[in-house]
Amino acid sequence: MSISKDSIFIKCPFFKAHDARRIFCEGIVKDSSVHLSFMSADTKRQYEKKHCEHGYGSCPIYKINERKYDEMGNDTSV
Ligand code: SF4
Repeated sequence: MSISKDSIFIKCPFFKAHDARRIFCEGIVKDSSVHLSFMSADTKRQYEKKHCEHGYGSCPIYKINERKYDEMGNDTSV
């Protein structure tokens, strides 16, 4: 499976990369990443279309990352 950072459709600022069944995102702690691993490429594609491309505000990982920045303020050591 090849991992690609390219997508002209994904709008989420926390997107890092993806492959057929996984989406890699910015992690919830400094210098980390998290990934969602789906049971099928179809399910992954549906999630990506619904959340990463259009409604990323409803994605739980987006919300956690957003809160991380809210709580961090200027403290980037977290
Ligand atoms: S919408 Fe969620 S899964 Fe998609 S790139 Fe953003 S944080 Fe990751």
